[in-house]
Amino acid sequence: MKTQCCIAGGGPAGIMLGFLLARSGVDVVVLEKWPDFFRDFRGDTIHPSTMRLLRELGLLDEFLKLPHNETKQVALHFGEESVVVADFTHLNVPCPFLGFIPQWDFLNFLASKAKQYPSFHLLMETEAIGLIEEGGRVVGVRAKEKDGEIEIRADLVIGADGRHSTIREQSKIPVFDSGAPIDVLWFSVPRVDDGTGQSLGYIDKGRMMVLLDRDSYWQCAHIIHKGDLEKIKVRGLEAFRNDIAEVVPLLKSAVVEIKSWDQVKLLSVAVDHLETWHRPGLLCIGDSAHAMSPIGGVGINLAVQDAVAAANVLIPAFGRGVTEKDLAAIQLRREPPARYIQRFQVFAHTHIIEPILQNPSRRSVPLALKFFNWLPVLRRIPAYVIGIGWRSEHIRTDIK
Ligand SMILES: Cc1cc2nc3c(=O)[nH]c(=O)nc-3n(C[C@H](O)[C@H](O)[C@H](O)COP(=O)(O)OP(=O)(O)OC[C@H]3O[C@@H](n4cnc5c(N)ncnc54)[C@H](O)[C@@H]3O)c2cc1C
Repeated sequence: MKTQCCIAGGGPAGIMLGFLLARSGVDVVVLEKWPDFFRDFRGDTIHPSTMRLLRELGLLDEFLKLPHNETKQVALHFGEESVVVADFTHLNVPCPFLGFIPQWDFLNFLASKAKQYPSFHLLMETEAIGLIEEGGRVVGVRAKEKDGEIEIRADLVIGADGRHSTIREQSKIPVFDSGAPIDVLWFSVPRVDDGTGQSLGYIDKGRMMVLLDRDSYWQCAHIIHKGDLEKIKVRGLEAFRNDIAEVVPLLKSAVVEIKSWDQVKLLSVAVDHLETWHRPGLLCIGDSAHAMSPIGGVGINLAVQDAVAAANVLIPAFGRGVTEKDLAAIQLRREPPARYIQRFQVFAHTHIIEPILQNPSRRSVPLALKFFNWLPVLRRIPAYVIGIGWRSEHIRTDIK
């Protein structure tokens, strides 16, 4: 198989880039190792800046018809007190809210739009397993399908295969691990209507939980110390259910539905980055270039923004031949916002989350966060960082 661009990974970064390239007439093959997008590990947030991009692409109205929830404010609950830490309603964008939509719906939506272009080829159940190199240049990908191995030759290979990227491992580009002392236990319980319709964070007695509203159920993220799952299991399922109900009283009746450890998935959190995102013939974007922690809920946004920035540079470049300079320009544009957020995430792991997990006493709203209640205008800052971010991108390419 031969193409102009082979993208390994059909996540937010890979599908968005594949769509934009095909929309401008570039021949693109996207490889996704799973048979569908029903992968439950990426978070559900669609950010105001992503919805602004969808509007620039003429897709927003249709997208908003998909079942979703609109979160205008993010609240944190400390014991019986609460504080609103982000208010999106003041953002100057078409959709001043955080959209919550299962990630597979978003990816299916984008993929269905991409498939309208004849130069878009999505190969599901096809796993990139190696790079093809000639004379020090990456010239393609080896991939495993159901029936055997295939080779895809490409003018450019994109690693968009997430935080456990095979492409970056194969590329031998050095990875700098910033360390992440936390992991996430991921499970769902039936939805109990609390009357808010918002996604919520709960912090109390040395425990932290985030609830994502998925209409008929809550998707729960329980933040734990890395490596603590075994200790939690030793205490037993009953103790686990009680812990959850204690930190989120709202779930008291729903937690009985957690009947086996099989319902509780461990998601490992990583924060790392590549010093150089590219080699001749290869570029990494999204988590493959900079694995993000869930803290702040911005990884999806950054992945989408990387894809748009890459498309803006690559689409004109494919006409004359993509150079190392083009690839370096993409890194130069996108690395600062990613690294800036990662530094904040590492700081938050050490100075906010670790102290919370180590303090089993009842919590009240920390003094620093009380300012969000006293001066509500401050809530606009986290809303901007989460919702728009630094160097947000715009579509600068045309339909061909
Ligand atoms: C527990 C947790 C919760 C999170 N919650 C949020 C949140 O609420 N909001 C937010 O913005 N961010 C969140 N994040 C961060 C976010 O998930 C990532 O930053 C984002 O998904 C990165 O997108 P991506 O497209 O680069 O990679 P991914 O979303 O990881 O997509 C990579 C894709 O490549 C595929 N793939 C992997 N290897 C191969 C291969 N060898 N060949 C072919 N395909 C392959 C995978 O199946 C996957 O579909 C969370 C992270 C974690 C760990």
